[in-house]
This record gives sequence, C-alpha cells and structure tokens, in this order.
Amino acid sequence: MPSHCSGLISPRTLEEAGVGEQIVANRVTGAYIHTAGGGVLALGGGETRALVIDRVRLDELLCEQAQTDGAELLRARMVQAERENGGVRLHCQRDGRDLQLTARLVLGADGAHSRVARTLGLAAPRERVYGLGIEGRLTVPREEFVHVFVGHRLAPSWFGWIIPTGGDGVRVGIGCDASDKPIYCYRRLADAFPRLFRGMEVCRMYGGTIPLGFAPRSYADNVLLVGDAAGQVKPFSGGGIYTGLVAGRHAAAAAVAALAADDTTAAGLRGYERAWKSEIGRELTRSSRIRRFGLGLSDSDVDRLVAALGHEALQPLIDRHADIDYPSRVILRLAHSLPALWPLVRLSLRRPLASLQMLRALLPGG
Ligand SMILES: Cc1cc2nc3c(=O)[nH]c(=O)nc-3n(C[C@H](O)[C@H](O)[C@H](O)COP(=O)(O)OP(=O)(O)OC[C@H]3O[C@@H](n4cnc5c(N)ncnc54)[C@H](O)[C@@H]3O)c2cc1C
Repeated sequence: MPSHCSGLISPRTLEEAGVGEQIVANRVTGAYIHTAGGGVLALGGGETRALVIDRVRLDELLCEQAQTDGAELLRARMVQAERENGGVRLHCQRDGRDLQLTARLVLGADGAHSRVARTLGLAAPRERVYGLGIEGRLTVPREEFVHVFVGHRLAPSWFGWIIPTGGDGVRVGIGCDASDKPIYCYRRLADAFPRLFRGMEVCRMYGGTIPLGFAPRSYADNVLLVGDAAGQVKPFSGGGIYTGLVAGRHAAAAAVAALAADDTTAAGLRGYERAWKSEIGRELTRSSRIRRFGLGLSDSDVDRLVAALGHEALQPLIDRHADIDYPSRVILRLAHSLPALWPLVRLSLRRPLASLQMLRALLPGG
C-alpha cells in the first residue's frame, strides 16, 4: 500500500517500533520556520532531531514482527462489526468474497475514518484537518533542514512543510481546516515562496485526514481503539506514528490481560485508556491547548512571535529542550522563563479573552 504520510519521526520512535536504521532515508538537524509575512527563522543545526523514514517499509517490518510472534495476516476489508454473544462478529470482504470472523476482542487500528469505531458505537475524535502530501524532486538549500510554513493566509488552522529525503528528493505537504482545500493552499504556498519552490517536480500526490483531539473514549465492550482511530495524534504536527506506537504497546498489554482474565467488557478494558494517557495524555492535552492559543493569533502576531524567537539568547534553551514528540516542554519553558516574550503574548491576548484563559490554564499553577 502506498504511503499517506511524510515519514518524519523522532529517533525514539524507531526504538519504540523496535526497528533498525535501515528504514532511515535522511537525518534532520534543524528547521526553517517561514511566516506568511515573509519572516524566516532557522532553528537547530546541531544533533539529529528527527529522522525521515520509509514509512511503507516501517509498516511492513511491523507486520513481519507480528507474524514472527504468531499473528496471522489476512488481507481483507472489514465492512461491518457487530456485537454478538459477548464477542464481535466482523463482516469482511476478501478477493471479492464475504468472510465472517468472530473475536472476543477487536483492536481498531484502522485509521482516521475508523469503521471499527463507527460500527461499534465509539465517537470520533473532535476535530479534523485535511492534508495533502506530495513526493517530488526539488533542490533545497540544506538537506538536513526541514521547512515549516505558518500563517492562516497560507494554511488555515494548520501549516505547510518541505522534508528533504536525501539527494533532491522531497516530501512536501500542507493541511487546512474545512474552510479551504489543501490543493489551493499548496498552490498559494508555492506562489508565496517562488524561490524555494522553483523547479519543483511533482511525482506523486496523496490526501489524508488528520484527526485531532483524542476520541472521548478509546475503549468499549470488546474493543480498543489505537492510533488515528482514537485520535492519538500530536496536535501541533499531526504526527501519529510515535503516539500510535506508544498506545499500541499499552493496547497489547491490556488485550493480553483482558483475555487472560476472560473479561473483555468496557470495565475490564478501562485500564488501557489510563495507561496510554499516563504516558502521553498530558503532552497531547497541553499541546492541544497551546495550539488553540496559537489559532487565536493573527498572521502579524505570528510574524512578531517568530522574529522574537530568533533572539540569540533563546537558542540554547530551544536547542536543549526542542523535542518533536513533546513540543509543549520547550514552549512552556520559553513562556515561563522569558519575560521578554510577555509583551508579545499580551499583544495577542488583547483581543481573544478565550486565549487569555487558555494561556493561564497552561502556565504552571494554572
Ligand atoms: C499528509 C500527511 C502527512 C503525515 N506525516 C506524518 C509524519 O511525517 N510523521 C508522523 O508521525 N505522522 C504523519 N502523519 C500522520 C500519520 O500518517 C498517521 O498518524 C498514522 O499513519 C496513523 O497510523 P494508524 O495505524 O493509526 O492509521 P493508518 O496509518 O491510517 O492505518 C490504518 C490501516 O487500517 C487499514 N484499514 C482502514 N479501514 C479498514 C477496513 N475497513 N478494513 C481493513 N483495513 C482497514 C488501512 O488500509 C491502513 O492500513 C501524516 C498524515 C498525513 C495525512
């Protein structure tokens, strides 16, 4: 199956997956942040912060690991799931034929449009953004730097990116809320940065939905939801590989325990949600609040904020604490330890009172 993902992960994600470096195509040490107003900020440039991977190969290797551990791979499409006799009946299609399966417990890791969640009565994640991904060829200034493009004018409620894959290979992407279309955002982006996008050759385009704000519940009788199906996605970047793997580890442990105890009721499975939230729930909640605050900023506020972040006094703090899996750590440290940022923050707070409440909730003791 072709990838619907840009494949940018942290080095710890590779460890979490138990997969070696053979899937790494490029190493990222820094990022250029571009604003709609034409500002640009270079961050990082030292150690490896992120890896660009072959996402298809990652999925294949995970699948092979599961098969080695005794899983049986059935290439089938699940059409409908229903509860029956204390278990679940799955109506599937394989090679044009009906296939019925029964299970005591189903792990729904079937993505942003999870049919498992829908047909077994679990609510969807609260928000969605719509992404466009492009695999292409483009000569970029530095292969070890990604480019991030921010601003409502470019990508309402989301952002754009260029991720070099090595040589002249790139993965370009952009996302937006339902008020716009990713393809229009991409055209605006390429027009707004003609020098960067000059000579861009598009090899493959794909779309994808990014669920945001985790689902109200990731478990119910006979079912656990994992990954995009449960909205276990980083609210800043939409990255869901790391969070999905972490939740998958907890789902596997909960499933083994529930089957051993012969209790696959919602009450017996509740520990799963507690477990994954205890590891990543706080970060996802904080990042989601910070994102909400950021959505209240105007493009010119963003321009000023990005310019302020370029101050050389901040670089050591950013270098030390930047982490693509836990971005709230560096942001809260910046906000907490830098009185210099407060005039900017106040500026953005003048209008939306909601942002002020949001910011207060984020601050230590809030
Ligand atoms: C444009 C774009 C770029 C992205 N870039 C990154 C990135 O750089 N880094 C990152 O960490 N994340 C990225 N993401 C997010 C990432 O792709 C997802 O979070 C991640 O793939 C979620 O994994 P998942 O296994 O939960 O769902 P998916 O990867 O969507 O997998 C779901 C699987 O379920 C199968 N399935 C679905 N329905 C059925 C059915 N009815 N019957 C049988 N099988 C079914 C699908 O075929 C698929 O194999 C990006 C997303 C988009 C849209």
